[in-house]
Amino acid sequence: MKKCEFCGKEISYDDMYCSEDCEKKNLQYYNLSNRFAKPFSMINVVCLFGITVGMFIFPMAKPFGAALAITCCAVLGVLLLLLPFPTESMIRKFKLQKAMKVTRLVGVGMMFLGLLISGLLAIFLS
Ligand SMILES: [Zn+2]
Repeated sequence: MKKCEFCGKEISYDDMYCSEDCEKKNLQYYNLSNRFAKPFSMINVVCLFGITVGMFIFPMAKPFGAALAITCCAVLGVLLLLLPFPTESMIRKFKLQKAMKVTRLVGVGMMFLGLLISGLLAIFLS
């Protein structure tokens, strides 16, 4: 069975989407991702790098390392909530609607990671 490109519902072989609504949402997503793909991937890379560096220097410079990692987690979390751009393979696997949900969950996870690091810092500094 062929599946709707957006929501993954089963559809007939002549269709791409199950409804006009799905087609519209799919188009909206691709417009958004065309416009923001570059800044998105730049911020993404910088934040992941910042989190790695922050964790790495945490044992030597706790407040600075933690501040760097927490800031990057928060920025990445907000970025993924506002612009939930999944990877191509996620879209293929889950279809767009679900892949965006998973990406938003990753964003929430990033924020929790930031909180966790704050907690660690509080424990280490107390
Ligand atoms: Zn659909």
